[in-house]
Amino acid sequence: MATPIASRSMITVLEPATEAVLAEIAPADEAQLDAAVARATASYPAWRELTPAVRALRLRELAAALEQHHEELALLEARNVGKPIGDARGEIAMVIDTFRYYAGAPERLLGDTIPVSGGQAWTVREPLGVVGLITPWNFPMAIASWKLAPALAAGNTVVLKPAVLTPMTALRFEQIATEAGIPEGVVNVVVGAGSTVGRRLVEHPDVAKIAFTGSTEVGRSIAAGAAQTIKRVTLELGGKSANVIFADADLEAAASAAPMAVFGNAGQDCCARSRILVQHAAVERFMELLENAVRAIVVGDPLDERTQMGPLISAEQRASVGSFLDGQAPVAIQGSAPDAPGYWFPPTVLAPVRPDARAAREEIFGPIAAVIPFTDEADAVRLANDTIYGLSGSVWTRDGARALRMTRAIETGVISVNSNISVRVTTPFGGFKQSGYGRELGPHALDAYTESKAIYYATG
Ligand code: NDP
Repeated sequence: MATPIASRSMITVLEPATEAVLAEIAPADEAQLDAAVARATASYPAWRELTPAVRALRLRELAAALEQHHEELALLEARNVGKPIGDARGEIAMVIDTFRYYAGAPERLLGDTIPVSGGQAWTVREPLGVVGLITPWNFPMAIASWKLAPALAAGNTVVLKPAVLTPMTALRFEQIATEAGIPEGVVNVVVGAGSTVGRRLVEHPDVAKIAFTGSTEVGRSIAAGAAQTIKRVTLELGGKSANVIFADADLEAAASAAPMAVFGNAGQDCCARSRILVQHAAVERFMELLENAVRAIVVGDPLDERTQMGPLISAEQRASVGSFLDGQAPVAIQGSAPDAPGYWFPPTVLAPVRPDARAAREEIFGPIAAVIPFTDEADAVRLANDTIYGLSGSVWTRDGARALRMTRAIETGVISVNSNISVRVTTPFGGFKQSGYGRELGPHALDAYTESKAIYYATG
């Protein structure tokens, strides 16, 4: 996607809402990536040997520094991604919370004591070394922080490769981290194309682990590339999540929440609930309510406080999203979008959509929702699971027992009842099936940035 821009002599960073140039950045090459890995390798012993209390303090100080730059970072993210300023502020708030949360981790990396004969045995958690972080353009700083904070808390040093389309907050983060007292070389940001610099990071023999968020296609190539050096890998990939709405649900609540569960971040969200499964008996009423909600979405200038949805990230992404309006399913509802420069696309609902239609099967990553009717609970489970993905999802019903059955039957890493929330700092996030492996956030993320070591001390 971004490769053509990156392969030019300079990376031209655009504002998707205006197509104006935000920055020109010289792309890094493989030699610069190698130099960043060397800096991270050199800084690793001192960082891991800091006492837990001091490493925790450094992370708290970093969180405080980020808080001082909250508005600046939010504005940069809003302009570079084209996301509404209110959303950008919320994401930077989450970044700060994520560093605060994992600042508690250095002093809580607990092990086990295990009964054995002839001595004592226990486990400790060791950091991995240099960790490579490869991140996408949809939530640039938020997704980076989900990897940075636990990696650093566990005593690793990092090389972060942001997407070339959206490198601005990562570059500013590196400066803020240094000013906040994170030692030189512990955090290294390298801006360059995935196909060159990203690949080198994956194959580099001195990198112990890759934490990746992006497309399932690139995720496959990362898993294959990392296998050559038996690197640890966590993958957070695509999704095609189901929003299952039973006829007994609070339809007003479900219909008013459904649009932003697909159209938030202009649909460029791996958790987008882009398949809205509605029980036959409720389809007519639900569609009336949904139409009002979709038409009320304010699409426009990301820097306007009233805006709820901005543009897509690029002309290429707009063309890719537009290809789903291929006549396989009727357009039932369409909101508005500015007729001006910028990669605009109106919020669009297709209904009814056959489960085998392209819009019901592939990740669209844009503001198109597919409404798919179902008959009963068994049919809803079958349709919800009829996908290669398994990242997120929702169930709307007033029947508590059915809600509990559904949460267990749907093959997904995260599921909500009568809510569309997927991500919290304190709970694990990640996918089943081809949505990836490993978990980010919550207490378990630290497992992905440490190795367990068993120690035995003979007392006989
Ligand atoms: P990619 O998976 O191509 O990009 C994600 C990151 O991986 C970027 O930093 C990219 O670099 C890097 N990358 C690309 N190729 C390689 C490689 N061979 N080795 C190492 N790193 C690499 O996603 P796209 O930006 O192309 O988006 C395409 C589609 O992927 C979207 O339309 C959407 O369907 C899905 N997607 C899903 C995301 C999610 O959150 N699950 C996030 C983003 C996309 P660079 O772009 O800088 O060259």
